[in-house]
Amino acid sequence: MNSDINQSNKLEFIKKELQERKTNNNLRQLNAIYPKDAVTVIKNGKRLINFSSNDYLGLSKHPQMITASQDYLNRYGTGSTASRLVSGTYDIHEKLEEKIAKLCGKEAALLFNTGFQANTTIIPTLVNQKSLVLCDRLVHNSILQGIFLSQAQWKRYKHNDLSHLETLLKKAILQGYNRILIVTETVFSMEGDRSDVDRLIQLSQQYNTLLYLDDAHALGIMGNKGMGLTAYQSGIDISLGTFGKAMGSFGAFITTSKGMRDYLINCCPGFIYTTALPPAVIGSIDAAFDMIPNLDKERDYLLQQVSYLQNNLINLGYQVLNSSSPIIPVIIGNEEKTLKLSNFLENNGILATAIRPPTVPKNTARIRLVLSSQHQPEHIDYLINLLKQYHEF
Ligand SMILES: *Cc1c(COP(=O)(O)O)cnc(C)c1O
Repeated sequence: MNSDINQSNKLEFIKKELQERKTNNNLRQLNAIYPKDAVTVIKNGKRLINFSSNDYLGLSKHPQMITASQDYLNRYGTGSTASRLVSGTYDIHEKLEEKIAKLCGKEAALLFNTGFQANTTIIPTLVNQKSLVLCDRLVHNSILQGIFLSQAQWKRYKHNDLSHLETLLKKAILQGYNRILIVTETVFSMEGDRSDVDRLIQLSQQYNTLLYLDDAHALGIMGNKGMGLTAYQSGIDISLGTFGKAMGSFGAFITTSKGMRDYLINCCPGFIYTTALPPAVIGSIDAAFDMIPNLDKERDYLLQQVSYLQNNLINLGYQVLNSSSPIIPVIIGNEEKTLKLSNFLENNGILATAIRPPTVPKNTARIRLVLSSQHQPEHIDYLINLLKQYHEF
């Protein structure tokens, strides 16, 4: 019997961790808001323009989405009552998967309950201790968790540096791995920049690797008819889309081959052992896929506003990452200063959350501004004016 275990306070580690975070100024807290419309929230009784949501097209409050959700709810009930392989596959799940595959120009699609769940559970179903995973240095935490779970060897290549990736591939193919998996994002969630999808496909084919692309931030706003940067591309084994961002709903899906879909249905724990997405959610996703192909005007407007805001911030002297998406990171560096700017904006009617390590690398704390097609030019000018007034940097 270990006496340390008997005598210590079993919850001491919690106290210690929270205290440490307080001391280091990185204790995180939840802050409830009320979403008034696609770009306005009420926080502590105060109206704020929201520049921190991923609702790029404002669909989460769209009447057509809400009606579809209500319709499916009325017809199918509040829950799907079982996992997909038991009795949780309704006709609406299957129809949605067929619709997604068709719209994305792929053989097959498969729903997952969240993007986080998909990344953490699919990767370990593809690779094991004898495999190697090569990923971008800045991939989303859910991808890292999937890699850790898989127990594969892993290496990161420098952010968006595909010649570094190729150097790693050249070495790796001589080392007897059973499989090599390349995994990255098409649009980086905290940087807003893009991967070179064509080159990734070419490298994957040249070195005979699996290729897994997380298209979460491209779906809805990029690619032909907004179907993302991986749609209609062959040579990608799995591409992941999520419904919680531009789609204005909840959940995730992959597009893939029929064979891979069958394999995952049989072997992927995070697909097998979880309750199927509920009808109301399926209804809203279905409506989003009806609407998104017709929103070219909104997408054009959104990208126009992105360069307008970017150019203005650069002219004001802010360090803005060279983003090619509605994600515009304003790098402040120091965590305290970043919080200070975020508070200043909030006191003046703007919600723009500070993003700090470990979500982003050390010394790159930032305000991650996110534009929506529902932001009016006056919202953006108001933000620019506030940042002009703020002379701290
Ligand atoms: C948001 C996000 C996820 C997680 O998706 P959820 O459905 O919210 O769990 C995964 N990957 C990337 C790149 C994301 O931005």
